[in-house]
Amino acid sequence: MKPPVAVGDHCTLDVTGLNHQGEGIGRVHGFAVFVPKAIPGDQADVEIISIKKQYGRALIRQIRHPSPYRVQPPCPVAERCGGCQLQHVDYSCQLELKQSLVVDALDRIGGVKQPIEPVVGMDYPWQYRNKGQFPVAGETGSPRIGFFAPRSHEVVTFDRCLVQPDAINETLDIIKTGAARFSVAPYSEDSHTGELRHVVIRSARNGAERMVILVSRSDNLIRNKEFLGYLTEEVPDLKVLAWNKNSQQTNAIFGSHTEILAGTNAIVERIDDLEFFISPRSFFQTNTLQTQVLYEEVRLAVEAGPRDVVWDLHCGIGTIGLYAARDAGKLVGVELITEAVDDARRNANHNGISADFVQGHAEDVIAGLSDFPDTVILDPPRKGCDSRLLRQLAEKKAARIVYVSCNPATLARDVKFLAENGYTVQRVQPVDMFPHTVHVECVVVLER
Ligand code: SAH
Repeated sequence: MKPPVAVGDHCTLDVTGLNHQGEGIGRVHGFAVFVPKAIPGDQADVEIISIKKQYGRALIRQIRHPSPYRVQPPCPVAERCGGCQLQHVDYSCQLELKQSLVVDALDRIGGVKQPIEPVVGMDYPWQYRNKGQFPVAGETGSPRIGFFAPRSHEVVTFDRCLVQPDAINETLDIIKTGAARFSVAPYSEDSHTGELRHVVIRSARNGAERMVILVSRSDNLIRNKEFLGYLTEEVPDLKVLAWNKNSQQTNAIFGSHTEILAGTNAIVERIDDLEFFISPRSFFQTNTLQTQVLYEEVRLAVEAGPRDVVWDLHCGIGTIGLYAARDAGKLVGVELITEAVDDARRNANHNGISADFVQGHAEDVIAGLSDFPDTVILDPPRKGCDSRLLRQLAEKKAARIVYVSCNPATLARDVKFLAENGYTVQRVQPVDMFPHTVHVECVVVLER
């Protein structure tokens, strides 16, 4: 069918849905048009800017009737920054929109018809992030450090990011001042020259412990002793100053070489009565408060007792298993990143919990594990589980699988496979780990 609109056309749209990028969806004679910054309930005049086979994209020229869910974004750069996609939507409506993203993906891709619990939101959905990853651009002496604009590598700067806590904003300011004063050359993606590519800041226990990771193209950065000395002097509560070298022409933030420049090798975060060491390259959930909400869901689902064998696959620094299956008779974690496995072992010891951690791809490692688990916890990255992993799990026939996912689409694909192999979905509980963004985390409990 020929699309009913062409590039350059103007039309008036009623926005009725939201896509997975947080863009409004309207229809022209049934043909879907995606409109950035439009939200359900808006009626807007738009201009079509591109046409694909299945959908078009358009920009808002004028909002005729704003949605009742529209609010003024409190951040002055919310319109230009790619960090948040939904600041212009009332928070309770954000939660409803996220729930419909989950319902839609699980139904359309996964064939899941079960009811889905309402998303658990935050009482105070600001300053929640314990980590910021900031790209660097600009010129030596006047670096720009901020976030990428949507669908672009233009760096948008800000005075204070409202989803980051004070400790991270303050640390970023000190790094900006130091980089300008001590002539740190910003990296240029185009020419693959310059030095500082990304600044990664972590804060644990409300800024009581901070970590800074400087990502640079070459070793030149760490020869700038004045800059490094300035950071160690000026950043309060700096526990870890680390350097990561990424000399590749790539969009990946990190390269393979990481070194501690000052301080110790990990910061310590607390969840409930447990303490976790987090080293520079290890994954840790970015919203500490909601992490406990998420893990509590998992704990209730796992119901681990002294005779149970629990596998925590994609375990990172061991957090979910150590929190949710601490009473299991046997807990085995599998994780790819060596540093994270070291952290996981240290964390088990530190908290007096007995657990085994194995380094490797979960899909390779579990073939060599002799026992049959009662419960398997899955928490893969956005791309979901490897198909080999799912096939092996179907053969292991664990009574229960608790699947934690940050991507409803791959979650739905994997749940479909498990449903075709003997499992039924018992419960789906989304948790808002990322207020004002389009992302949503889910816990799905499956039983045989
Ligand atoms: N469960 C942890 C980590 C979840 S993030 C937590 O809640 O903090 C996903 C983790 O999976 C990351 O630590 C990543 O390094 C790891 N990972 C990615 N691919 C993997 C694979 N094929 N096998 C095992 N671990 C993997």
